[in-house]
Amino acid sequence: MQCEVRVRKLETNEPKCMKCGKPFRYKEQEYCHDCMHTQHYFDRGAAVWLHKEPVNFSIYQFKYHNQRIFGKYYAAEMVKKYRNTLLKWKPDIIVPIPLHCRKLRKRGYNQSAIVAKELGEYLGIAVDTKGFRRVRGTVPQKGLAPAKRRMNLGGAFSVSGYLRTAMKGKTVLLIDDIYTTGSTMDEAARTLKREGAEKVFYLTISIGQGY
Ligand SMILES: [Zn+2]
Repeated sequence: MQCEVRVRKLETNEPKCMKCGKPFRYKEQEYCHDCMHTQHYFDRGAAVWLHKEPVNFSIYQFKYHNQRIFGKYYAAEMVKKYRNTLLKWKPDIIVPIPLHCRKLRKRGYNQSAIVAKELGEYLGIAVDTKGFRRVRGTVPQKGLAPAKRRMNLGGAFSVSGYLRTAMKGKTVLLIDDIYTTGSTMDEAARTLKREGAEKVFYLTISIGQGY
């Protein structure tokens, strides 16, 4: 119960960035510092909570300690918070940010795919967890400068033939656990659009603070 109250306080509320959805601490502005200076490939995105205690701990458990059950709760919160937004975005297909097969084997599951599946069930929207793949392993993004991050991710994703056909001219909703600098989401959106997707939005469980 106490946890519930603490989590409520971390909900991302207005004012927030019109592009990436990062909440601002003080000022009313349209875009965060990052989105003012970066040309993003995705159309828009949003997150449920700020990436702070206890949300970060919860996601850590979800990712690394087999707490797959949390996926249902995260998806339910996404629906509750972003019902109207989703009605506006009208996604045709939901796609999780993939893990490289080596990582997937090691962890046993892709946490973003779990949320994507639960969300698809709530919304009655098709989910594809196979066609969008991470074909290249990358070094951890943490500590890399923005230009290095882009290089690190370049060509990291690929789209299989059937998904290319399925998403041609369609709107894709990407799902990931955390949005930090947006470089992963950008590379994913760039790949999906290059392969024929018309629009790419995203929802994540948590996000960093915007400035
Ligand atoms: Zn932003």
